[in-house]
Amino acid sequence: MLNELVSELKSHGVNIVKVVDISMLSENEKRGYPVAILIGVALSPSYIYRLSKENIFDCSEFSEKEKAVDQLAEWTANFIVAKGYKAYAQSERNLSNGFFDVDTKTTPLPHKKIAMLAGLGWIGKSNLLITQEYGSALCMCSVLTNAPLRTENKPIIESMCGECNICKNICPAKVIHGTKWRVNSNRDLIVDVYHCEACLKCLANCLWTQKYMRNYDSK
Ligand code: SF4
Ligand code: SF4
Repeated sequence: MLNELVSELKSHGVNIVKVVDISMLSENEKRGYPVAILIGVALSPSYIYRLSKENIFDCSEFSEKEKAVDQLAEWTANFIVAKGYKAYAQSERNLSNGFFDVDTKTTPLPHKKIAMLAGLGWIGKSNLLITQEYGSALCMCSVLTNAPLRTENKPIIESMCGECNICKNICPAKVIHGTKWRVNSNRDLIVDVYHCEACLKCLANCLWTQKYMRNYDSK
C-alpha cells in the first residue's frame, strides 16, 4: 500500500513523503493514531528568487501550494480509508473543526513535529522547519492513521542555524527574537507569531533556502 501511495503522491508533484511512528507521543497529540505521514511540496526556486531579490510581497505560490498539499493530504486519508483503515488528514479545513486553537495559534501535533521525527530538519530562528535540501521552502501537511505502514523515525536534528541571524535582521515586523531552537523550546521565545505579517521574507532569505535556490540554478 505504501509504495502505491508514494507513487501516486509523487505523480502529483509531491517532493517528500515520510512515515513515522507517533505511538510514543501523548494522547492529546496522536489522538489514537500510531502513525503519521508527512507530505511536502517544495516552492519553486524561481519564486524564492523573486521573493528574496525583488523585495515583493507575493504569497501566490505559497498559498497555492499550501492548498494543494492540504488537498493531497485529504486525498491520502481517503485512499487509506478505502483500504479499510482509519485516517485523518490534518488539513487546514479539518483542523479548523476544533483542533486549531485560534487564541494560541497552535495545533496538538504540528506538521513540523512530524517532520522532525522523520529527521527532515530543525526549527530555525524563524520558527520555520529548515531542511538541508529545501531550506524552509516547503509546504507541508500530514495524515494520522492506524494503517500498518512501514515507519522510519530518525534522530532529531539539532539546530544548524549557528551564529546566523539573517531572518531576525530581515524581518520587517521585528518579531524574530534570534533564539536558537532546542527540543521543547517555548515557541513564544523564538517568534511573536501574533504580530507576524506573513511576508515570507524569513522563509525566502534563510541561508538554507538560498542554498536550495542556488543548487537548482546551477543544475
Ligand atoms: S513572515 Fe515576515 S513578518 Fe513574519 S516572521 Fe517572517 S519575516 Fe517576520
Ligand atoms: S536565516 Fe539563519 S538563523 Fe534564520 S532560520 Fe535560516 S539559518 Fe537559521
